[in-house]
Amino acid sequence: MARCSVCGNDYDKSFEIVRGSERRSFDSFECAIQALAPRCDHCGCAIIGHGSEAHGRFFCCAHCAEQENVPQMTDRVG
Ligand SMILES: [Zn+2]
Ligand SMILES: [Zn+2]
Repeated sequence: MARCSVCGNDYDKSFEIVRGSERRSFDSFECAIQALAPRCDHCGCAIIGHGSEAHGRFFCCAHCAEQENVPQMTDRVG
């Protein structure tokens, strides 16, 4: 069984997430989010939706981007 790469838990229903050439095992989505989700540059929350990227910085919402004086939001998709 794969061991969770975040908390080390050995769980028989663990799963793997492949991102590029990186392959990691997790026992829960909570651990996967902790390890993989980008953090909002303003409030620091984990971005588990699409979020927004502007000038190489990630934001959970347009409001946070505005707080950081980054009004120009681009969708991460594409
Ligand atoms: Zn874990
Ligand atoms: Zn935020």
